[in-house]
This record gives sequence, structure tokens and C-alpha cells, in this order.
Amino acid sequence: MKNLSIRLKITIWFSAILVLVIGITFTTIFWINRSVMQKNIKDNLIKTVEDNVDEVEFFDSLNKDSIDYDGDIYISYKDGLLEIDDDFLDKVNGIITALYSENGALLYGENRLIKKTSKIHFEDEKLQKISYEGAGYYIFDRKLQGRKLDGLWLRGIVSENEDMERVTTVVHISFIALPVLFVLAVFGGYSVAKRMLRPVNQITEAATQISQGSDLKKRIALGRGGDELHQLAAVFDDMFARLEEAFETERRFTSDASHELRTPMAVIMAQCEYILNETRSVEEYEEAFYVIQRQGRKMSRLIDDMLVFTRMEQRNESYPKEYLNLSELIEDICQDMVLLKEKQIILTWELEPDIFFEGNRLLITRLLINLISNAYRYGKQNGNIFVTLNQKEKIFVTVKDNGIGISREQQEKIFERFYRADASRTLEGSGLGLAMVREIVQFYGGKIEVSSELEKGSVFTISLPILKNI
Ligand code: ADP
Repeated sequence: MKNLSIRLKITIWFSAILVLVIGITFTTIFWINRSVMQKNIKDNLIKTVEDNVDEVEFFDSLNKDSIDYDGDIYISYKDGLLEIDDDFLDKVNGIITALYSENGALLYGENRLIKKTSKIHFEDEKLQKISYEGAGYYIFDRKLQGRKLDGLWLRGIVSENEDMERVTTVVHISFIALPVLFVLAVFGGYSVAKRMLRPVNQITEAATQISQGSDLKKRIALGRGGDELHQLAAVFDDMFARLEEAFETERRFTSDASHELRTPMAVIMAQCEYILNETRSVEEYEEAFYVIQRQGRKMSRLIDDMLVFTRMEQRNESYPKEYLNLSELIEDICQDMVLLKEKQIILTWELEPDIFFEGNRLLITRLLINLISNAYRYGKQNGNIFVTLNQKEKIFVTVKDNGIGISREQQEKIFERFYRADASRTLEGSGLGLAMVREIVQFYGGKIEVSSELEKGSVFTISLPILKNI
């Protein structure tokens, strides 16, 4: 059963239940019908015999002449005649009624059964069931009363299967019709199940193609429909789209990363060739080694950044959370960075004291260093940088500079990996700094926004969720 398709399993269950329901219904109807008919047969027998009681009369031989022979039957009896009225029902609805003398001799009525059953003891107003030649019969007797009628018996007899042909016909028809209906229902059920489960095949097919990596653009695309399978297909399509996007980002990241590594590597190789090709002066060697060192640092920073990304994406325990006094941490970072004094830029800060946050010290430090060093790098000579921290409905950190600024179109792109705005191309940088800042902020459920104007400066605002239970 386990290896059967769902379609087949549904059909088998459905058929089994159908057979059971048909069987139970059929048997119930048959038995109810039968018992109702049996009751009818008995009631009819009693009623017919009772009706016939008044249809028998005795006439003396004296007034024979006054008898009207019209349709009635007359039998000589004792010293007169017995009149069986023409209303006497001797054979109706399969019920035979006969008249017997006191000693059980048949006076009126003709039927094989009537004669044979005359030996059965008469009992007034009692319904008896007898068996004759393997078939069952009901008998009902009435003792007649009245002038010269005392001792005469009326007996009605009817087969217990009277009228059962109708039931038998129904049974016969059912025996043919029900299997036909059953086959139709099973076929219908099978094809409906097949049609309903068709989307599952489409889902499997799309998932297989995607998992084999042959076609990431593949979608189930079931189209309109609100049933569970359509909903499932929509969820899958959504998931496939996200997978495709993730794969694409990964692919771009890898190719960008290798591209970014290739340049410093090429410089290093060229410098090595330069110093190895022929003997150089000490100054030339020194210069070449400085270049190699610079490029080596660049590569190492790039590799470090990429490692941070990978670890953060894995959401593993690489960056355990700790209870941080954010105010003190940012103060320390600013204290260190103020020493840079690059381009005579002045760094100042205004931090609300004792703001706490639950995060990783390394990541938060990295976030601020990236923002502040960008402000230095893209700042103007004698410019200034202003860092603030405060807490309202959220924790807000801002880094403001009066540097070169970022154009409106490029503001949306600067958070992408390896993206560098035109204005900054000539300056050193990898294009990973802000992408990492955004990654860290999102890692803690926060948001980062930028507002900037070319040549005037930029403000980066980070909002972080407030630490609960303090
Ligand atoms: P990188 O600084 O290494 O190029 P980032 O991801 O840190 O990479 O920044 C991406 C780009 O955003 C930078 O190349 C620069 O064009 C722009 N940018 C970032 N910070 C600033 C800033 N404070 N002022 C002006 N431009 C900035």
C-alpha cells in the first residue's frame, strides 16, 4: 500500500467505502421492503377472510322459489341451500378463500392447496404459518355463525412470497445497475483524483528541475485557483523566486569577490616579477615591498569582510550576544577614531549615557568603524564628523559628515555589495563596508537610512530595537 500512488490509494479507499455503503443500503432496503410486504400480505389475508364472512347465507328449502339466482352460487346444504354471494372474494391478490363444513370437508373453493390444507386444524381468528412443498403459507380461519351456519369454516390461504416478485425484480435490477454505477463511480473518482492531483506532478517536476540545478527560473505557475494545492504551488513559487535571488546574489558575490581579489593579486605578481627580473636599488625594493604590503592588506581586509558575511548569513553562534553599554562602546570607538585626524577632519560626538543593547561587541564595533571611516574617507579637508546616540521608541545612532555626498540615484545602491559611487571611485575602498553595516543592522532587526546631498554631506541613521526587560 505504501508504494501506491495517492491517486490509487484514494480510489481504493473510495471504492471500498462505496461497496460498503451500497451493500448496507441495499440489504437494509431489501429487509425493510420484505417486512413491510409480509405485513401487507397478512393484513390483506385477514381482511379478505373477514369480508367474506358476510357473503355466506343459508336458505331453507321452503323458500327456494323466492331466491334470485343472479350471479350468486348455491350449494345444497342440510335441508336447504348455502348462498355464496357474488361479492365473495374466492381469489383475490393471491388470497384463496374456501368454505369448509364442520367436519373439514370442502364445500366451496377450488385449489390444490385448499384441498391439501383441509386437514390442518381450524382455529378461529388465528393466523397460522404453514409449510407446504418447501414453500411457506399463511392461513387464517373464521368460524361462521348465524342461522344454520354454525360449524361452517371460512379459510383464507396465501403464499408468504405473494407479490415478492416485485421485490425480486428490484433486486435483479439492482444487481445489474449497482455494479454499473459502481464502475462508473470508481472511474469517475479515479479521473477526478487524477485531475485534482495533477498540480502535485507539476510541483514535483518543477522542484526536481530546480534541485538538479538545471533551471532555476522554472516555476510551477498553476495560475488562478484558491484550493490548497494552488496555495502550496504559490508558496513554492515564492520560495523558488527567493532561492533564485539568493543563488544569483551568491553567484554575483563570488564573481565580484574573485574580481576584487584578482586586481591586488595581479599587482603583487607584477611587483614580484619586477623585483625578481633584475637587481634593483634598495629604494626600488622598498617601494615594491610597500606596494605588495598595501595590496596584501587590501586582500586580507576583503577576505575578512567576506568571512563576516558568510558567518552572519549562517546565523550560527559565531557572534554570541552580550549585554552591552552602547553609550560606552561608541564613546570608546570615537575616542580611538578621533586620533585619525585624516584630512584635518574633526570628529565630535554626543551620546546619551547608559543606553544598553544586546548584541555582539565585534559586530557593533565593526558597524561604527565602517560608518565613521567612510565619513573620514569621503569627507573634505578640514571637515567634521558628528556621531550621536539616543533612545526614544528605538535606539538611534547617527553619523553625519559634510563630505562629498551621494547623489539621489546612488543612495539606493550604496548598500549593495561591491557597489561604489562614481564620486568615490578614485578613493580606496572595497564596496563592502556599507553592505556589511546593513547586514549587521538587519541581523539585529534594525534599519539603516541615508540622507545625502552631493558636495554637502551625508547622514547615516541607524535604528535598533530597544532591549526589553530593563
Ligand atoms: P567603500 O567605502 O569601500 O567603497 P562602502 O560600502 O563603505 O564601500 O560604500 C559604498 C559607497 O558608498 C562608497 O564607495 C561611496 O561611494 C559611498 N559612500 C559611503 N559612505 C559615504 C559617505 N559618508 N559620503 C559619501 N559617500 C559615501
